[in-house]
Formats: sequence, structure tokens, C-alpha cells
Amino acid sequence: MKRTILFILALAAAIVVAPIEANARKKKSQPEVKNVIMLIGDGMGVAHISALMLEERYQPINMDRAQAAALIKTYSANNRVTDSAAAGTALATGTKTGNHYLGVTIEGDTLISLITRAERRGMQTAEVVTCYLTHATPAAFYAHTDDRSRYEDIAVQFLTSGIDVAFAGGRKDFAARKDGRNLIPELEAAGYKVVNTMDEVKDIHEGRVVGLFADGHMPMATEAERGDYLPQATSKALEILTANCAKEKCGFFMMVEGSLIDFAGHNNDAKQIYAEMKDFDEVVGIAFDYADKHEGTLVVVCADHETGGLSLPSSKTDFTLSESGVEYRYGTTSHSATMIPALFYGACAKEFAGIMDNTELSRRIGSLLGL
Ligand SMILES: [Zn+2]
Repeated sequence: MKRTILFILALAAAIVVAPIEANARKKKSQPEVKNVIMLIGDGMGVAHISALMLEERYQPINMDRAQAAALIKTYSANNRVTDSAAAGTALATGTKTGNHYLGVTIEGDTLISLITRAERRGMQTAEVVTCYLTHATPAAFYAHTDDRSRYEDIAVQFLTSGIDVAFAGGRKDFAARKDGRNLIPELEAAGYKVVNTMDEVKDIHEGRVVGLFADGHMPMATEAERGDYLPQATSKALEILTANCAKEKCGFFMMVEGSLIDFAGHNNDAKQIYAEMKDFDEVVGIAFDYADKHEGTLVVVCADHETGGLSLPSSKTDFTLSESGVEYRYGTTSHSATMIPALFYGACAKEFAGIMDNTELSRRIGSLLGL
């Protein structure tokens, strides 16, 4: 009798457990996330997001839609206050390096970025930024140098990066170089369409594209010439990646940077901060909408470090009275050591909540993509 009961119990357990195990095996063999859109607000601290909310009078902004949040430690290998090169390298490769270093450790070891690993796995990749294509954050995903200011060297390294779509400024590092070499024909020989204006991009719907829309950085969001470049370029890059991925049956990794939030912070300029943050938040909305329509897409919104030491104190010290205004105060015209916010949306978003190092954030994204 006892034996019969035990047998029935064992059989019942097997029936319950077997499908769970099969499910787990199925999950393991397939990456849980197919596409990653990583949005980096250069220099964007919690106060920058708060400033946007405040200026928008607490009407919902796109970042309000985030499904999970984390706080990220940003110190570099040789300084508790990081620069964009070391922070970009940590986010791109999952390993810390010293300030000024890109894609290499201080000892000179080469670090392999999420973009390079994605390319090796046959995925599509893209970068969309408002700075030079060779500037610290975008370069951290494809270049290797102990000096981030070697822009011409870094431009040469882009040729072999494998990156499929790149929209940025910094044309002079490719076309008007001190060494006389012109990289534009070399890009074309490598299979890229190379364009200079967003108008020319309108008719491109697939393939490999490099758009270099300014000699230096793009204009600030407070300047009319900037227009809606970043949201438009982000949408276009997503369109091209989606078409390429449908053809090649693959996923993608895309990095978009609101690069000039950092400049606004260095300038201690509230108007610029608001304009850059509003522009960047529009990009966040585009990425979240994309994730809604494309299963398996994870959106990560983060920063590399905080710039400006921004705080938003009440204008009057007696803040128990009704509002008398909020001020923008700055602790520095440089970077600060405060933790930065990270927001998550879409596939596996909820797995990220917590406090973590910038290298840990990168490694977790890589592992979800199976890289
Ligand atoms: Zn900076």
C-alpha cells in the first residue's frame, strides 16, 4: 500500500517537473533578448531627469514609462571621478580602465565590446550620436587606444568595426584629415553608403550606411540647425536594422547617445540641459514604442557619469511655504562621482533592478544576448 502511494507520488512529481525542465532547457539554448537598444545620456544624472520633469510641470515624460530602475556606480580604474572614455569602455566591454583609455586596460590588454561581440555572432549593429563618431562614447564600442584624443586613428579603426549603421558628426576625421588620407572612398569600398544630410537618408531603407552630418559635433539642441536630428536618426537606424535583420534572420545591438547633455552640464547651462534632455527623452519614447511592437527587445537608458554636479534646491530656504521657485545649482563645471540612473523597458527589463557597477550592467546585457 505504502509503496503504491510512493509510486503515485513519484509519478505525479515526474509529470509536474518534466515540462518545467523542458521549458528551462528551451530557454537556455535561446538568448532571452533578441535586440538591445542602449540609450546613453552623456553626463545625465538623476537631477537632469528631475529637471526635465520639473520643466514639463510633471506632465508624464517618456522616461516615466520605465518598467525598472537601477543605480550605477561609475568610478574608473584610476579615478573615483570617471571620464567618458573609461565609463564608455566599462559600459561597452564590462571591464574598467583608466580615464582617457578606450577599449584597452591601463596595462594595454585589448577589451572586446558588445558591438564587436554582436558583429562576430552575425548580429546587426548601429551607433547614433550627436558628437563626433570618433568621440569617447561611440569610440569605446569599436576602438582601442590609450589616448581618446587620437581622433584620426580612431576613425581608421571604424573602417574595420563591422558597424552596419552609424549616424553622427565628426566628418573631418574621415574627410579632412591632417594625414591627407580620405576615408570616405574607403568606407564606400567597404560597402557603406556615405551621406552628409538627413535628406539623403530618407531614401535609404536597408544595407550599410554612414551618415556624417557635421564637421565637428552636431549643433546643441538649443540651436535651430539641430532640428529633430537625434529622434529622426534613431527612427531611421531602427528601420534599417529591422530590414537588415529580417533578411539575415538576426537580432541587433544599437547604441544611441545624447552626447551633448554632457556639454550642457560642463557649461552649467539650464536651458541647454532642458533642451538636450527633452530631445533625449523623445528618443526614449521611440525606443520604448519599438520594444512594444517587437518582442524580445530590451531598452536600457543610462548615463556614463554625471556632469555639472547639478542640484535643484528651493529658491527660498524655507521650503515649507508655497513654492517660491527652484534653482539650478552646479557643484562643478566638470564631472561628479554620484551614481547615475539606469532605466529598463521591454524584454527582461525587470531583471535589472538594484544597485550595480557599470561593468556589471554591461555584462548582464551581454549575457542576455548570449554574447
Ligand atoms: Zn564630459
